Amino acid sequence: MKELEDRIRNEGKVFPGNILKVDSFLNHQVDIKLLDDIGTEFYRLYKFAGITKILTIEASGIAIASLTAYHFQVPFVFAKKAQSANLGNEVYTSRVHSYTHNKDYPIMLSKSYLTSDDTVLIVDDFLANGKAAEGLLDICKQAGAKVAGIGICVEKGFQEGGKVLREQGCRVTSLAIIDSMTDNDLVFRSHEEEK
Ligand code: 5GP
Repeated sequence: MKELEDRIRNEGKVFPGNILKVDSFLNHQVDIKLLDDIGTEFYRLYKFAGITKILTIEASGIAIASLTAYHFQVPFVFAKKAQSANLGNEVYTSRVHSYTHNKDYPIMLSKSYLTSDDTVLIVDDFLANGKAAEGLLDICKQAGAKVAGIGICVEKGFQEGGKVLREQGCRVTSLAIIDSMTDNDLVFRSHEEEK
C-alpha cells in the first residue's frame, strides 16, 4: 500500500533491536485518515470472506481494528493483557512473548465475544516473529472460530513470523513488507497487488 509505505519512509525511525517506530501516525498518535484507508484496503482484500468479527490485541491493534470493523460493519474485539474484574471467569486465555518488551504475558478474551459461529479477520500493527498472531490464532482455535486471514500493517519480512504463519497455511496480508532496514535505509518488498 503505497500511502503506508510513503508514511513509513518519511516518518519511521529505526531503533536498536530492529524496532521501527511509527508512532507519529500508527500506534501512538494516530492518523485517522490513514487508518480509514487501511480499513478500506482490508475490506477490499476480505470482503468476500464472510467476516463476522475483527480480532486484535491491546493496545496498538485497537485503532486499526476499529476502523477496519467499521468498513466491514461488524464488531471488533480485542484480547486484553491484564485480568480485570469485569472480564469474568469465562475467558479464553493464551500466552504471548512480547517482541518489544522481551517478556511473556497472558492474553484473555471473554467467551461471550468469540464463538464457533464467527469468521475472523485478525489485524495488528506489526508482524515480527508472529507470537502475537499465534496467541490470537490459539484463542480462535479454543473458540472454534474460523480464521479467514491475518491483516498486518507493517510486516518486518526479515523476521520469521510471516514465513512461519504462511507455511502453516494462514492467509497473511501485509500492507507494507520491509525486507531490510538500517538507520538511513528502508527496503520494501515489491509485491503484486493482492486481488
Ligand atoms: P510479534 O509477536 O510478531 O513478534 O510482534 C508483533 C507485536 O510486537 C506487535 O503487536 C507490535 O505491537 C510489536 N512490534 C514488533 N515489532 C515492532 C516494531 O518494530 N515496532 C513497533 N512499534 N512494534 C513492534
